[in-house]
Amino acid sequence: MQTWSSVAVPRIPGTPRPLRLHDTATGQLRPTAPGPVARMYVCGITPYDATHLGHAATYLAFDLVHRLWLDAGHEVHYVQNVTDIDDPLLERAERDQDDWVVLGMRETALFREDMEALRVLPPRDYIGAVETIPEIVEAIGKLLAHGAAYRVDDPQYPDVYFDRSYTGRFGYESGYDEATMATLFAERGGDPDRPGKRDPLDALLWRAARPDEPAWDSELGPGRPGWHIECSAIALNRLGTGFDVQGGGSDLAFPHHEFSAAHAEALAGGHPFARHYVHAGMIGLGGEKMSKSKGNLVFVSRLRADGVDPAAIRLALFAGHYRSDRPWTGALLTEAQARLERWREAVSLTAGPEADSVVARLRDHLTDDLDTPRALATVDAWVTEALRRDGTDNAAPALIRTTTDALLGVAL
Ligand code: ZN
Repeated sequence: MQTWSSVAVPRIPGTPRPLRLHDTATGQLRPTAPGPVARMYVCGITPYDATHLGHAATYLAFDLVHRLWLDAGHEVHYVQNVTDIDDPLLERAERDQDDWVVLGMRETALFREDMEALRVLPPRDYIGAVETIPEIVEAIGKLLAHGAAYRVDDPQYPDVYFDRSYTGRFGYESGYDEATMATLFAERGGDPDRPGKRDPLDALLWRAARPDEPAWDSELGPGRPGWHIECSAIALNRLGTGFDVQGGGSDLAFPHHEFSAAHAEALAGGHPFARHYVHAGMIGLGGEKMSKSKGNLVFVSRLRADGVDPAAIRLALFAGHYRSDRPWTGALLTEAQARLERWREAVSLTAGPEADSVVARLRDHLTDDLDTPRALATVDAWVTEALRRDGTDNAAPALIRTTTDALLGVAL
């Protein structure tokens, strides 16, 4: 698929720091240790609705990872998928009497626009599920051959499932106990009651064609892929196994990332699939998680249409830590807009307090598991002094402008 256009990332002086991130699988804050090419996979959208602030918060968090690796001198191979065939897309298309292909293309186009407006650096590979079906079919064929997958005994709909006991490590990624896994599997698209499965938690790999559903011919028979195998195949074929960061919202920790890892480890034999599993918190509105099912979404495109500067959306979401569940409020946006104005006023001055130490502290905070609240406070402190006309360093305003652009993606 066509990705979105990039923006130049300026180089900044001083010494970069290695990035430390919280890893869900080990529960530890550990340094990322990429080679010359840092490899990251972040799960993309299912394009049945516009980009809401929960999506934006997730992609902005991983944009910081991207930027901090660039700052540390790595090349970044970033891969993101688009789940352009799955149940939610078909259900929404049916509800709205829409064509599922057109719906998917329209919402994917809007997502790209939103990402560009937010200055999110694009993935090198932006890959749709539909265009990857041959890769997915090949992967499922291998899982069947390895004995890691099986067909249910149903002559009408011989769906293929993954045997979750195959790797002997199922559950390591999320760390959840059996009861929690069972609950989340049922809540998040799983089908524990499907007759013929060996285990209620085994996940769908290939759904045999149903009447009135899109299907693709393949050596598995006509059908369409499950969700988790899509990400396993796309990631393995582009990043290999043992890549640096697998990312997404915290609601993907189980079952999606657990199964993506299990499928990939059953395919490639390596462990772990990713060295860090990194999860962003949920954005709430009115006391509840922002989600399609609750209907309490705030869309990035709506805010843009209302004239909100995307840089203020960045600052509003960075005011909280990426891993924390946090509310979106009108006050949060108002404060971010005021902060943006103050920052812009300060960097337009002809002098300010020295800024080298500000750059160093920004790096310290951001490489410490993306501590954006402290990073913003660090810039705020410089801005306050600058606006009091305290500084005489003529190079400082430009250095602050370049640094917030490079590390935070905020253009002043
Ligand atoms: Zn995924």
